Parts: sequence; structure tokens; C-alpha cells
Amino acid sequence: MGNAGEKYVYDFSEGHKGLKELLGGKGANLAEMTRMGLPVPAGFTVTTRACQAYLATGDNPAGLAEEIDSHLAALESAMGRRLGDASDPLLVSVRSGAAFSMPGMMETVLNVGLNDESVAGLAAQAGGNERFAWDSYRRLIQMFGKTVCDVPGEEFSNALEEAKTARGATDDLHLDAADLQALVDRFKRIFAKNTGHDFPQDPKEQLRLAMEAVFRSWNAERAVLYRRQERIPADLGTAVNVVAMVFGNLGPDSGTGVAFTRDPASGAQGIYGDYLQNAQGEDVVAGIRNTIPLDELRTLDRRSYDELLTIMAKLEGHYRDLCDIEFTIERGKLWMLQTRVGKRTAGAAFRIAAQLVGEGMISLDEALRRVSGAQLAQLMFPRFDLAADPVALTKGIGASPGAAVGKVVFSAPRAVELAAAGEQVILVRRETNPEDLAGMIAAQGILTARGGKTSHAAVVARGMGRTCVCGADQLEIAADRFTVAGRTVNEGDVISIDGTTGCVYLDAVPVRPSEVVQYFEGTLSSAEAEVPLVDAVHKIMSHADATRDLAVRTNADTADDAARARRFGAEGIGLCRTEHMFLGDRRELVERLILAATPGERSDALAALLPLQRADFVDLFRAMDGLPVTVRLIDPPLHEFLPSLEELAVNVAVARERGEDHAEDAELLDAVRRMHEQNPMLGLRGVRLGLVIPGLFAMQVRAITEAAVQLAGEGLDPHPEIMVPLVGAVQELEMVRQECEQIVAEVVADSGVNVLIGTMIEVPRAALTAGQIAEAADFFSFGTNDLTQMGWGFSRDDVEGAFFWRYLELGIFGISPFESIDREGVGRLIRIAAEEGRAVRPELKLGVCGEHGGDPESVHFFHEVGLDYVSCSPFRVPVARLEAGRAAITGEDSDSR
Ligand code: ADP
Ligand code: MG
Ligand code: MG
Repeated sequence: MGNAGEKYVYDFSEGHKGLKELLGGKGANLAEMTRMGLPVPAGFTVTTRACQAYLATGDNPAGLAEEIDSHLAALESAMGRRLGDASDPLLVSVRSGAAFSMPGMMETVLNVGLNDESVAGLAAQAGGNERFAWDSYRRLIQMFGKTVCDVPGEEFSNALEEAKTARGATDDLHLDAADLQALVDRFKRIFAKNTGHDFPQDPKEQLRLAMEAVFRSWNAERAVLYRRQERIPADLGTAVNVVAMVFGNLGPDSGTGVAFTRDPASGAQGIYGDYLQNAQGEDVVAGIRNTIPLDELRTLDRRSYDELLTIMAKLEGHYRDLCDIEFTIERGKLWMLQTRVGKRTAGAAFRIAAQLVGEGMISLDEALRRVSGAQLAQLMFPRFDLAADPVALTKGIGASPGAAVGKVVFSAPRAVELAAAGEQVILVRRETNPEDLAGMIAAQGILTARGGKTSHAAVVARGMGRTCVCGADQLEIAADRFTVAGRTVNEGDVISIDGTTGCVYLDAVPVRPSEVVQYFEGTLSSAEAEVPLVDAVHKIMSHADATRDLAVRTNADTADDAARARRFGAEGIGLCRTEHMFLGDRRELVERLILAATPGERSDALAALLPLQRADFVDLFRAMDGLPVTVRLIDPPLHEFLPSLEELAVNVAVARERGEDHAEDAELLDAVRRMHEQNPMLGLRGVRLGLVIPGLFAMQVRAITEAAVQLAGEGLDPHPEIMVPLVGAVQELEMVRQECEQIVAEVVADSGVNVLIGTMIEVPRAALTAGQIAEAADFFSFGTNDLTQMGWGFSRDDVEGAFFWRYLELGIFGISPFESIDREGVGRLIRIAAEEGRAVRPELKLGVCGEHGGDPESVHFFHEVGLDYVSCSPFRVPVARLEAGRAAITGEDSDSR
């Protein structure tokens, strides 16, 4: 870390936007604007490598001080002023800037170089503007105190308020030079009291201390937490920018502003921004005075306004994207202080990308690169209708998306109780723990006062698709009410929580269905010009479909789900679970099957099930006509279809007590006791059932094949694929296959129906012996849920709520392996199985079923491994299509953004 002779300081004229990692985003873009010939104040950037060295050793690397001195000297001679010179001081800002923008990092210190002497020089140079000089000095002490020396910020802001009150002034503009000079004295005392030493008068010492504080702020608690959450590497470090000051607080012909080249909220074209006259730095976003819309700058200062617009157009053309901008006007002269490719909402991301394609600025590939499946997923959730102007209560972290409305409850039992009575509830807790699980299941949504995206509440809510907002600001929770910003909400009051934005509202906010879902459903046409978002999604999705190699199927058990998924673009069913075909009014038949004492009784029960199941498959194949449908033979242990042990035991005891007939229940109870398993997940299930219970798989295979033959007879085009679950050894599959093939051959006869027989790969041993198993399989489908459970040796239901939050906190994994595929471990098993399977049987079809099939990160992995398709729940199908498209784009990102 840090090499002898390494260059640690770059003048703005030396860098460019490709050097973000070294110079940070802010520094790289300041350099880029300098290269473009835009009016950027002179300055230089101390690299992230210097920060890394400082953090590793606690000291600046050798040579850094000298390098800074020589760059400072060059800056001084370019500006014709010396840092902190008593009669004509050069002042600088010291600004942090990492490769990723990050909350919690140290804020900027402006006006470095001012002291008791140079403040007079500054006033003289500003034409005797004493007020300006003292205002700048008090800002320096305030910012320096707060951010470099940890002086509590309120002490300064309270003193400022008092000064205003004493003057009867409503805002800081009404304080005159004498007031501000007095305030400087007061600030210096506050500084000394808190730090134990005087405010440093040596300009170079100010500069060094500010720079080192920026370095250290990389490890500030909030920054560390943020990085962990966003999975930003901890060792990147931040750069430090030293920039010659320009002054927006020199009078009414000066000011400061922010601007966007398009609306970052909606993506609409146009210029958006705010401007504040006679102000410096953060004033414009701090809300200390009312800003004016950027438009009005045109009447205030036409020349600067026109120049700004020209520059913004130039920046958009250069970055080929929405840019956000900070600028300052000093006595009618415009200065650019920052630009970056601006953050935007999910909707704006799609609209802007499509617009830029329309304007010929970017390719469709690039547009696809600039949107994400996560953004698309956001757009598919129903949203609150903010036109209803709801009362905002607080804001937290949007931890699991959705729009939930319900009555506030403060305990899990209460949530369960109200939900059982048919109420919709929102569970509000300081934080959740495993004991809250039942309440979380019963609730529409979960709101917590503590924790972030990896807290227990967040992990569990995402796992079960519940809306969740975590770590809500200023939320004080008592037993039967919470308060927030002076407002009290009692148990039973209705609130609305937005798991995407993190906003919490009072009362029931009306929910608006998603336009994007309406479009996928076919009820909203992309041609409707008044819905530019839908049009944009349509364009980009079409390109994704044209680009991707992975097919996208759906997991669907019913014809309804299949039809919906098909509208969402599913190209078949990757997983149809047949469990539900054994439930409802069929339970009795299943009981008969399980209790059958003789082969005759057993085959009677199976024969009764056959037509029912065949009818289910007919509906399903019809809905997916022309597309493949993978049907998984029964997987769960059979006792799951019997009543619970406790229930039966009670029934039998009660009946016996009353002297009633209980023979049937007693028989069932015996069976349940017999079939009880310590670890049902690892027990008699999947292919093992097929081998142990004669005729069970055969019945299912017959139902599937007969359904297909029937439809073929109607002129339809069914493509059934029979999938055997839980295979661990080729022998298991071979035996089942033999039985299946006989039935299939017999039923198919000359109907022309083709039935594939394949297996799930979900037991680690299957993955490791895939070369053998491929001999007996037409296809593999990776059951990534079980493969993850068995690969890690934990069951999802047991562990996700129990300790995952702790594992996430400890960094054992960055994201739950059930949310996103564990590339190194479980992913390795998939890779091995894919390679060894294809080596034996090159035409082997490879797919994934399990929720990972709809997870963006995982889709990229499955593309890399070369699978043929992913399969996911109907709602995730568009997300998978988009991400499969993104995964397939080749070539470099044409822009180093
Ligand atoms: P952030 O990362 O929080 O945006 P910045 O480093 O951009 O922090 O600075 C905070 C504010 O100070 C911004 O409004 C910026 O435009 C302003 N500022 C920074 N450097 C200068 C400078 N040299 N002259 C005038 N204003 C500056
Ligand atoms: Mg800024
Ligand atoms: Mg499984």
C-alpha cells in the first residue's frame, strides 16, 4: 500500500473521468470538466491511494506533504494569491469524494485559509465587503469545528439562531458585519471549549487537518454500515479535492445552485433546478432560505443562465446521460463545482434510457445496461397514489418492496389475533426477532425503528415477500402507541408503509396499480403516448428479449398462473409442483392410498386419483400450448397430506372419552406415528417415494401422458417433460425411468406426442455424479432451493428467521444464499454438474427452477454457466427476461461511468 515514488496528487488538468477509482467520482469529473474547457475553479485531487496508506499506517505516506506543497504552490501562482495571505488570501475548499457517493462521509469544509488576519484582507479584496468576509469566516469555523473536530453542530446553529433573534432577523441575510464578527468570536469560544485548543490560525495546518479528517471519515460508522449494505468494498478509500474558492455570497449578483439536465423523478425532458441568491455551498439544499426555481435565474442574470444551459447541454452530450450539477455565480461569473451522472428513480431510469436511444445518443445495448431488474421489479409493485396528498409520518429504509396498509399493532400475538379476525395489520416493532415470526406472517407489512437492509425484519420480510420499512426516523415505540415528530399513533390506527421508498404515512393511502403490470397483462398498450414509462419499458424489454440467450420459464402449478405468466412472457413452465393435486377433496383418496393394507386397495386409490390429475394436466397443457411444461413428480413426504399428530391424538382421545366410534382416526393416528420423521426434509420424499410406494409415480406419469395425448387429439401441441425430484444416484433415476418409459410408450402409441424424462439436480451427490446421471436424463433442472439447503446443511424455514441477520452482520455472507445464488459453493456444484452432464450428453437441456431463477445476480451467473433457461414465479418473469438480456450484452461499457 503506497509505493515509494508513487504519485499521490493530480492537478485537475491531469485527470479524467476514467480515473474514478483513483480520484473519486467528484475529482474525476472535476478533471473531466476542466479538460472540456468548462469554467472550473483551479484545484487538485489527493488520491484514494493516499487515503488507503493513511488508514493503514495512521500517517500520511512519504512524499505526500511535499507533493501537496508543490501543487499548492502551483495553484497559488495560477491564482496570483497565497493561501491565507493576510492582505489577499487564496481560500480553498477541502472536499471528500470516493468512487461511489456515500452518505456518512465527511462533509466539505469551505473557506479554508481564513484566519484573524486574512479575514481583513478578504474584506478589502471584496471592495470593502466586511459582511462577506465575516460571513465566510464564521462558516469556516462552523464547518471545520463540526466536521474536522467533532464539535456538536447544534452549538453553532443555536448561537446563529440566537444572533438572529437578537436582531429580530428572519434569516441570516439580515445579520450585518458587526453581528457576524461577534458571531465569529462566539464560534471560536465554542470551538475552544469543545476541543481544548484554539481554532487553528495556520492555513496550511487547517488544510492538513481537514484532509486527514476526510481520510478518517472513510471509516465513520455510518459510512461503514452503508458500504456493508451496498456491498461496496471496504478498502477503496476516499480521495480529497482541494479547490480554489469562488464566492456565491458576495451580494445579490452572486449565488449558488443545483441543476439536473432531466427530471430525475419522472425522467421528463427539461431543465430542473434551484437557485439561491447571495449564498454559499450547501445553503441551497439546506433549506435555510427559500430557493427560486432555476427558470427565474433567466431574469436575474440572463448571461449566466444562457451559459449554464449551454454547458448542461454539452455535459449531457458528453456523458450521454442525465447529469446533475452544482454551480456558483460570483458577481455575474459562472463556475462549475461538480457534475456527475445523476441518481434517478426506477421509472426515470427507463424513460431516460429510452429517450437517449431516441435522441441517437446511446445504443439499445447501452440503454439495457443502464436499467436493472431491481428497478423493473420496483415498477411492478402497486404504489401509493401521492396525488391524494397523504400525511407523511416518517421515513426509513425501504427493506422489502410493496405498498401495505393496515392497523398498527405492537406485538406478534396481537397481529395474529387481528389478522385471524380478518383485519389487515402493520406490525410495528423496535426491531424484530425470531419470536415475532408468526406476527410477521400475519401482517401486511412490518415497520421497525432500528436496523437496516440486513436486519432480522428485512431478511425475513424479503424472504416471505412482506412489505417492510426498517430503521424509521425518530420512531419512539411504547406498549400501545408510537410517536414520531410530536405525533402519536395508537394501536388500531391505520397507517400506510411504502417498502420501496421507505415512506410511512398516516391513514390509508389509496393504492394505484402498476402501469407496467397493466402493460404486461395486456390491458395497457405501449402505444399509448400518455404513458411514456410503458413505452420505454416496452422498447427496452423488446431489446432484452432479442439479445438474451437464456429462455425464461415460470414456476406455475395451475392453469391460471400459467396463463398469467405467459402474458408476462414466460416461454414454458420450468416447474409444476404436483402437490396441490393431492389436496382438497382428494385428501381422502390420499389417506386411502397411505392406509392401503393390500395392493388392491392401493391401486383402487390410485385409480381414483388418476382422472382427477389428468384433468389438471389437461388445463395446464392447454394454457401452455406449444411450450414445454416440466412436471415434477410428487416430492414432499406423504405424511404432509395427513392431519397433524396433535390434532388426531386429541380427536381420538375425545372420541374415546365420549365412547364414540374412533376406529378410523385411530388408524390414521397409527399411520402418522409410524411415518413420523425426525428430519422430514431428509426423509422419505421425492424419488424415494416413487421407489417405495408402488404405482404412485406410474399413476402420475400416466395422467401426464394421457392428458398430452388427449390434447394432441384436439390438434394442440403439448410438450410435457417429466421431472424426478431428489435424485442422488443414477440407479434411482434409471429405475424410475424404466417404469416411466413403459407407460409413456404404451399411452403415446402413434399420437405423435414426445415426452422427455429428466431429473432435478438438488442433492449435492447428484451434482457430483452428474456425468453418470446424465446417461439417464433428457434434462437437468437445478433445484437451487434444496441445493442451497443441502449444500449449506441448513433448512430455510428454520434458519432464515433464526440467525441469518447475525450471519449478515458478521459478514459470513453479504446476502442470504436463498435470495441470491452462492456462486462459490452452491454455484460450483451447478457448474460441475452442467459441465459433466453436457460432456456425456451434449444435447442435455439445462435449467433452473427455484426462486434464484428470478434473482438478477443469479440470472447473470446462470447465463455464465451456459444454462438453457431459468424458471421463476410469474411476477419475476419480466425481471428475469430483462436480466438475461443484460447478461448477454457483449462488449465493454462504452462509457466509464
Ligand atoms: P457534497 O459531496 O456534499 O456535495 P461538496 O464537496 O460538493 O459536498 O461541497 C459542498 C458544497 O460546497 C456544494 O454546494 C459545493 O458546490 C460547494 N463548494 C465546494 N467547493 C467549493 C468552492 N471551491 N467554491 C465554492 N463552493 C464550493
Ligand atoms: Mg456536491
Ligand atoms: Mg426440492
